[in-house]
Amino acid sequence: MVCPHCKVSKKIAKHGTYIRASDKKKCQRYRCGACKKTFSETHFGVDYRLRKRYINQNAFRCLCSGVSQRRLAIILGVRRAAIARRLIRFGICAQHNLEAYRRDREKVTCFNFDELESFEHTKCKPITAAIAVEDKTRKVLAIAVGRIPAKGSLVHLARKKYGPRPCERRKCLKKLFHDLNACVAPQGLVKTDQSKAYPPFIRTHLQGWTHETTPGRRGCIVGQGELKEGGWDPLFSLNHTYAMFRDGLKRLARRTWCTTKKIEQLTLALYMYAWFHNLYLDSKNRRQLKLVWNH
Ligand SMILES: [Zn+2]
Repeated sequence: MVCPHCKVSKKIAKHGTYIRASDKKKCQRYRCGACKKTFSETHFGVDYRLRKRYINQNAFRCLCSGVSQRRLAIILGVRRAAIARRLIRFGICAQHNLEAYRRDREKVTCFNFDELESFEHTKCKPITAAIAVEDKTRKVLAIAVGRIPAKGSLVHLARKKYGPRPCERRKCLKKLFHDLNACVAPQGLVKTDQSKAYPPFIRTHLQGWTHETTPGRRGCIVGQGELKEGGWDPLFSLNHTYAMFRDGLKRLARRTWCTTKKIEQLTLALYMYAWFHNLYLDSKNRRQLKLVWNH
């Protein structure tokens, strides 16, 4: 255990208990010998200082099942802010869990990656989200999000209204590969589409890996463009996972009222869904999907 005040792990002693008012749970307090401050075991939980603990797991499952924040507040009978607060908390927790998962899992030898596009506030401010997915198991390995300038017919309007917008695509791919470093084997197979941006990154970050590209195909209607039309798809794991992201996160769905206002929130939502997705694929009992702080 590490003291949350001074980050020292030595000289931590038990310091009595208390009964938590919101759910009558008996909690252990501790006292740090270095800074003399006290803290309790609840400090490290995902629900620290969230008093309506009984809604947490349901909120997590609903937020990852295509329910909007406002509608969820109505369903659970709580304030909108209560849900917004939890989205942030769940995102941070999921991000740490994903990090720990990469560190502790066995090495990956085959994965796919691509970029998912969304936007913040208006379509004039697009966002790219690079997501790496393990082949076959469909587990999400890493996520990186960045701003990109508007494309096509929106270029002039976007420049006129909102000024120049930085292109963070390279930075974003760099972060993705940096994160993946923790879980990739020395040799393996990486599959992507035929984007020209990827080969240089794969050469520098995945030396000894084979790169396989697949030509882009038309999307089929049911998967909203993410699932591809006609026959065997070599990038099925990736495209299927992307379709699940679009279905699970309300803000990513096509033709929705719910949009991202801040890129930071989208990042947290993506992490939250990614962790839910991995939990779902991992768990034997899907009736008990639970977000816990496990690192
Ligand atoms: Zn301390």
